[in-house]
Amino acid sequence: MNLWIIHWSEIGLKGKNRSFFENKLKENIEKQTGFKVKKIKGRFIVEGDLTEMINKIPGISYGLKIIGVFEKPEEIVKSLNFKESFTFKVITKRADKDWPETSIEISKKLMKLIMEKFPYLQVDFKNPQKKIYVEYFEKKFWVGLEKIVGIGGLPVGSSGKGLSLLSCGFDSPVASFLMLKRGMKLDFLHFYSYPQTSLLEKEAALEIFKILSSYQPQSCLYLSNILEVQKYLFNNVPKKYLTLFYRRVMFKIAKKLKEEKNLDALITGESLGQVASQTIQNILATTKDLDVLILRPLIGFNKQEIIDISYKIGTGKISEKNFQDCCLLFNPKNPITKASFEKIREIESSLTKLDELIQKSFEEIEVYHWPGK
Ligand code: ATP
Ligand code: MG
Repeated sequence: MNLWIIHWSEIGLKGKNRSFFENKLKENIEKQTGFKVKKIKGRFIVEGDLTEMINKIPGISYGLKIIGVFEKPEEIVKSLNFKESFTFKVITKRADKDWPETSIEISKKLMKLIMEKFPYLQVDFKNPQKKIYVEYFEKKFWVGLEKIVGIGGLPVGSSGKGLSLLSCGFDSPVASFLMLKRGMKLDFLHFYSYPQTSLLEKEAALEIFKILSSYQPQSCLYLSNILEVQKYLFNNVPKKYLTLFYRRVMFKIAKKLKEEKNLDALITGESLGQVASQTIQNILATTKDLDVLILRPLIGFNKQEIIDISYKIGTGKISEKNFQDCCLLFNPKNPITKASFEKIREIESSLTKLDELIQKSFEEIEVYHWPGK
């Protein structure tokens, strides 16, 4: 039997908007799995194997794999067949109150009947080896032995659209995941410097993009070659300001794309104080006048916390290969840690070709759709 009951959590708190969130989640499950989804009594019934997918769909709190649907508690016990001994407990949830017994009474009755049928089984309320889940609704008992906890959060598409600045490092893929988990639909923008950086780096970005795309129905990766802008900056900007200018250029191109595609915000993997470009003064100085919402979901995360999440979501194994990032190219040895916005403006006013080069990179952006258009 390939039947799952899906529960969501936070959506319940959304008052009048509740059905918008529920419909979004239903639509995402259908698009991401291709399975039919039916809403019954505050949960979804899905026909198809969701084992691998529960953890890929933001908004799901957990899924219960159904082993049978019954009209009476006695029928449940009749269908069970346990050969080995273990400790267990029954957990019952009623969505409909038209059954004469309470949830606790149903659980107690089931545990008694199960122990009568299988004398080698024992109930353990605190630390059972097996849990038997029973849900009562629509005049039926839905029974499952396997519950998979999801990532929770909100369904993608319920919290606006973002453009995530995606490198091949550990941070930005994790930042992207956290925004997807909060319901933001994401497209991605990766900067590279071919032929100064290898094509392998671009391919790694594509691989990370595909992993992140598995958390939402459809997405695209924009690829922007900024080698010419970087060379120009390298020859015209004081060395210790170079990294900040590379970053400023990235933000400027990203802002153009965000506006053209009508997105709401830019996302980065910056974390306070992690590297020189991420001191509070530098973050402020680089973006002060850009008039664009930049979300930095990792700002308060430690590196190890970020790395742990990256392995959980599957991007860590690519990031660990440590590709040469375009940002590291021509990087100064002693970057400034406390830049002022005025100084950045002063340097920028002498860069007469900068806007033109930025526009050229922007116009040459390539796009890659996943899973196809
Ligand atoms: P990450 O681990 O995400 O690469 P980092 O610790 O290397 O981050 P920086 O190189 O300062 O830090 O980058 C800060 C942020 O700028 C990244 O998290 C990412 O959002 C963005 N960024 C850096 N390099 C690129 C790139 N090549 N393409 C797109 N965005 C980038
Ligand atoms: Mg990086």
